[in-house]
Amino acid sequence: MNVFDPQRFKLPPAEAGEDDVWVPSSCALCYGTCSILAHRVDGVVVKIEGNPESAVGKGRLCGKGVSGIMTHYDPNRLRYPLRRTNHKKGLHEDPGWKRIGWDEALGEITAVLRKVRADDPRKLVVQRTTTVTSSRVPLHAFATAFGTPNFSVSGGGQHCGNGAHLISGIMHASWSVVPDFEYCNYAIYFGASKGHAAGHASCSNMGKAADARVRGMKMVVVDPLCNFAAAKATEWVPLRVGTDAALALGMCNVMVNELGIYDGPYLQAKTNAPYLIGPDQLYVRDTQSHAPLVWDLRTRSARPYTDVAAADMALEGRFTVNGTPCFPAFHRLREHLQKFTPEWAEKISSVSAATIRRLAREFATEARIGSTIVVEGVTLPYRPVAAIAFRGAQGHRNSVYNFLAVDLLNHLVGAADVVGSCLGFNPTCQGHPDTGKVRYIPSAGPDGLMVTGSWMGYHYPYQPQEPRLPQNLGLQDLFVIGMTSPFLDSTDREDMWKKFEVPYRPEVMVNFGANLVMSIANRDAVAASLEKYKFIVSFDLFLNETSNFADIVLPDCDYLQSFDSRSNFPFIFSLPGGLGEWCWPIKQPALPPDGEQRPHADVLLEIADRVGFGADLNAAYNAWLDLQPPYRLAGGTRYTYEQICDAELQNNFGSQHGLDWFKQHGLIKWKKKPEEVYWRPFVDVRVPIYWEFLRPIGDKIAAIAEPRGCKIPPEYYQPLPDFLPCRSHCCDKPGFDFYGFYYRDIVHTNSFTMENPWLDEVARLDPFSYTIAINAGEARKRKFADGQPVWVESETGRRVRGRLKFTEGIHPEGLGFAAMCGHWSDGMPVAKGKGVFYNDLLELDWEHVSPTNINLDLCVKVRVMPAESVS
Ligand code: SF4
Repeated sequence: MNVFDPQRFKLPPAEAGEDDVWVPSSCALCYGTCSILAHRVDGVVVKIEGNPESAVGKGRLCGKGVSGIMTHYDPNRLRYPLRRTNHKKGLHEDPGWKRIGWDEALGEITAVLRKVRADDPRKLVVQRTTTVTSSRVPLHAFATAFGTPNFSVSGGGQHCGNGAHLISGIMHASWSVVPDFEYCNYAIYFGASKGHAAGHASCSNMGKAADARVRGMKMVVVDPLCNFAAAKATEWVPLRVGTDAALALGMCNVMVNELGIYDGPYLQAKTNAPYLIGPDQLYVRDTQSHAPLVWDLRTRSARPYTDVAAADMALEGRFTVNGTPCFPAFHRLREHLQKFTPEWAEKISSVSAATIRRLAREFATEARIGSTIVVEGVTLPYRPVAAIAFRGAQGHRNSVYNFLAVDLLNHLVGAADVVGSCLGFNPTCQGHPDTGKVRYIPSAGPDGLMVTGSWMGYHYPYQPQEPRLPQNLGLQDLFVIGMTSPFLDSTDREDMWKKFEVPYRPEVMVNFGANLVMSIANRDAVAASLEKYKFIVSFDLFLNETSNFADIVLPDCDYLQSFDSRSNFPFIFSLPGGLGEWCWPIKQPALPPDGEQRPHADVLLEIADRVGFGADLNAAYNAWLDLQPPYRLAGGTRYTYEQICDAELQNNFGSQHGLDWFKQHGLIKWKKKPEEVYWRPFVDVRVPIYWEFLRPIGDKIAAIAEPRGCKIPPEYYQPLPDFLPCRSHCCDKPGFDFYGFYYRDIVHTNSFTMENPWLDEVARLDPFSYTIAINAGEARKRKFADGQPVWVESETGRRVRGRLKFTEGIHPEGLGFAAMCGHWSDGMPVAKGKGVFYNDLLELDWEHVSPTNINLDLCVKVRVMPAESVS
């Protein structure tokens, strides 16, 4: 039986004048998931506006959001299942697509999946795009139920996630960080654009950031490029690409060792700063309880941290415990920072020592250490400064330390999740007032360190698992700090799998919307990986460069045609931080499927049923959505995705708030409490300014990896952050003068939106969207002309072609590429041939990933050559 019933999507009669409605739903042109109202007239969506009722977007949409109509009605949208007739796969092979029926497509997919599941379910790779965040539950549940640990997100995950999410999780119990725009007076951004371009809670944050600037918030943007955030900032500080840690550590040193400004009571009560560290770099522990010891200033003795009042814990001094000399972690940090003089940091980052000293002084002074403020009747710590980082700072080989060094600025002055400070967005929710559901609060884990209350990554950020010989293709069982992994597609994947005795190889891929040929690294590496799969089925809206490697392509419904009980997962993913409202919007169809399009979540349910693991999929949904009786899905029952959405909504918000209620209202919301937003004083957890757990993890990884020929550089596993150079910093080839990097373009979402004609038009009018930004002075020195066609060549000989665009707003050594352009698929004719494909310059192997969190290094040392000089 085919469980998909197109009648469910039947619209009201479309007689002229009878159908004129605004359908509340959610945008999915990027993972910001802003709430929308789709205006449908006589069966046609004629306009999309922001939903002012929602906290997600607050009635605003970006240019992509309002252009969604053009993606939906694009005549190049897929409408029928397709099967390739050319069995040879390659970048330049024509798949020879042939239209087939759903029964035939599903029959073939079922046969393949049955076989591989019976053989070894781990041979299935489930891959998805990060753009449609709500897809996470159906795809993850499918993978879990099938029995494969090989679940991957495409470039979005590997480029922006591993460091930012890891450190935000460990230090703020959150997926990412933002300034508390309502109260912050001084924000410093390192390679981030929160509130000024794309990203989490994008449109809500744009409003909040604008209001903050009007209020007088000073904003300093540290970035090689003066673009969306820097252009609106009080000050732009251009730095050498990938050197954020050097600048941040220089500032930390000035604050602690030159100015002597830090928040002692915060460090005592909320971090592991007082924990005693022995000569082995590890905690000195109580012999009985095994708890880390602190030095009790009142009794003048070492005691477990649990037994001493925070105010009595020593932060500095040399102590002897059972004959072992030891120092508080803060003492170690303070000593460690001394080597990062502003003069040293200037040499690395190119930011002058005087500027570093000034920024450190401004940040430390503006923090107003010791002050409090009353918010809605609650007296709270007030630290109106925030240092935030995101993709630009963390997308490097030194990903972990780059981000950690920036966040240390916050923790040194106590500016973490209190009023005005750096906020994790929404890590503490006390639940809906009627049901208490969607409640999560961070808790104290091993050694009193914080464990997040809610998480969406591959594993919780703390406490890391024990490294072991990997059973998964991404090797995260071994590299336990990493979340998403490059090893599914890297050029050395076979070598790595052999080294680590991975006992199987990938054979089948279920892909949801990811264009990984473009979104990870160079096309040859990823193509070589995809060619090896015996079978790929891909849910797509268009035939893109990756769907051309598929055996069967299934035409998906887009966001204007599908249900989801949440606009993303978890619901806080794109909810703005700070005071305001909790808000849970849904996604619902404003339009029916066109042709034979079907929503992927329903197709996955049908495939599971046909293959024979429908009951497992129901169980996986129960676990993923935390469904409790009477809303738990029954093992033997066939459900539609709409029914599952209904179950989740009733489970969370009561039987009166099922899908029918949400279809009408679009969202449910309730007020945030100050104790939820500014949760740090109310939750008894500590965070590590000294990552004691890191070196033992590194040692265990080395014990497994090094006998197998994989050297683990110990400097990446030290408890205190350092500046460690990228490959690009080590390149001294003559003529390779520039650091290539890419940045998010506000009018495009990764490689996805170039096919949209309105966005393409805007991008063509923008001087930078489809060009290569170069410092005007440096370009003229080399006799380049503005607009000149050039080749950009990496030190490994990879080349991309584009046109230069001169600007004063880029670091002299930087070469900036917008978005992820340069499509070549005939299935995306509007996008084809536009812009520059920066990722094609990136190497994809162990040498170019962080040895700590296996994050891909995204900067490349390049030379620029006139196009006519290269044959
Ligand atoms: S920010 Fe993203 S989710 Fe919001 S309107 Fe723009 S594209 Fe849509």
